[in-house]
Amino acid sequence: MDIIAKIKSTAIETPDRLVFSSRDGKMTYGELWKKSSALASYISNRLEGNREPIMVYGHKHPDMLVAFLACVRSGHAYCPVDIGNPRERVSDIASAIDNEIVIVVQHEEMIDIDDKYEIVGREKLDTILESDTSYDDNEPVSGDETYYIIFTSGSTGKPKGVKIPADALNNYLKWSVTLSGGIPEATRFLNQAPFSFDLSVMDLYTGLATGSTIIALDKGLQQDMPEMLKYIASSDIEYWVSTPSFSDMCLGEADFSEENFGSIKAFLFCGEVLTKDTAKQLRARFPHAKVINTYGPTESTVCVTEVDITDEVIAREGALPIGLPKPGTEIRIDPENSEMIIVGDSVSSGYYKDKERTDKVFFMAEAGSLSENPKDMVRAYRTGDTGHYDESGMLFCDGRIDHQVKLHGYRIELGDIESTLTKIEGVAAAAVIPKRHEGKVESLTAFVVREGNIIADDYSGRKYVRETLKAFLPSYMVPKRVKFIDKMPLTNNGKADRKKLEELV
Ligand code: AMP
Repeated sequence: MDIIAKIKSTAIETPDRLVFSSRDGKMTYGELWKKSSALASYISNRLEGNREPIMVYGHKHPDMLVAFLACVRSGHAYCPVDIGNPRERVSDIASAIDNEIVIVVQHEEMIDIDDKYEIVGREKLDTILESDTSYDDNEPVSGDETYYIIFTSGSTGKPKGVKIPADALNNYLKWSVTLSGGIPEATRFLNQAPFSFDLSVMDLYTGLATGSTIIALDKGLQQDMPEMLKYIASSDIEYWVSTPSFSDMCLGEADFSEENFGSIKAFLFCGEVLTKDTAKQLRARFPHAKVINTYGPTESTVCVTEVDITDEVIAREGALPIGLPKPGTEIRIDPENSEMIIVGDSVSSGYYKDKERTDKVFFMAEAGSLSENPKDMVRAYRTGDTGHYDESGMLFCDGRIDHQVKLHGYRIELGDIESTLTKIEGVAAAAVIPKRHEGKVESLTAFVVREGNIIADDYSGRKYVRETLKAFLPSYMVPKRVKFIDKMPLTNNGKADRKKLEELV
């Protein structure tokens, strides 16, 4: 699979086919190719000789796709940053990427980045996109060059930029188009996740790889359930891509069933535990749709396993499996701690400009059965997830070896929140503890030890802590509850005693 070539051929053969639709606008494949030519031409003139990544800021506007494609066609990785991030994080990411220009497709008023960066904002974009300039694709991103960079929570409070090479994306797509028994050409995908989360790569790129239409839900729409369901029902979506948490929200509405959403052929899930409860309800309400569980971290291009959750699979004892690894990938279990290690052709080339953190979790492993020559070396990634295979060879994800959690599908390093908390004046120590139900995290509680009386020991103090966190962290990372304690309970080796704190949650 060469995704850029595939988009081009769809644009040439069926220029009027819709590629993207959201409340911000609609776009055809022909327009996508034409507009991305004009922007690629601008970028390559503006950044002559430089092949460094470019940050792209915005939400669900069709021109986000134009910007992504223009970057890779002109030899630059793109780094999508969604409007859900606070100014501070956006500015940190812009500085980490540190290219001369930043493309801002929409909501320029929401960012505040160093003025040494030139903002290619709405007005300038309109002029460029209307210019109709052609572009010779002589040096697009290819092979091991980075195609995109997605930032994800880091335990020290500094997000990590996961680099995905073009080959890894193309290898992933070769397999993702076979999901659910094979995705046909020209179908319709639901896009729920923001583009700064790798779950969106599943719908966006599997959609582009099959010449399909991507129907995107913006943030505002996702906060208005009846309106959103109406929008989805009128969009004739065939492939539903979301976190299980999002489908749980929809299942809260009685109307969410085959009767009103008969076009849905399959639910493709990734990003967090799929519980039996969710799968059962979906099977009951959508008896003709498949429910597919996939597993994988951003560090190995969205996902690397698949399993069809049939009624028979649900009837088996215990948790649902995550399935079998895709071709070109092996998941090896570390005998020491049961950690799952992903070895194969869609593993990331590491964290952007962060050798230290890259070396901790990425390494080269012997290919074994992945290559004709078992001694060949291939990329490997330590996931931090524990897992096991059952007698039939099915893989199960059992938990974490660290303090990373998934909350409503969002990946959060508790250490990221804790280090932000301790930077607040008046906070002496902090620990963030998840509350779980059936193994799934439901909410977070921050235990805070105050320093002196800078922060009031009452409701206003707790509110102040949450509000201050919001300035530095995306809102999904701000703990629902803040509890002040006099002293942090400690374990024998001096770390916060999380077991004791869990008892208090
Ligand atoms: P992300 O990088 O945001 O996709 O998050 C990856 C992490 O989400 C994995 O390392 C797992 O901890 C968790 N995860 C992803 N898919 C599943 C799944 N199907 N079942 C259980 N956990 C999952």
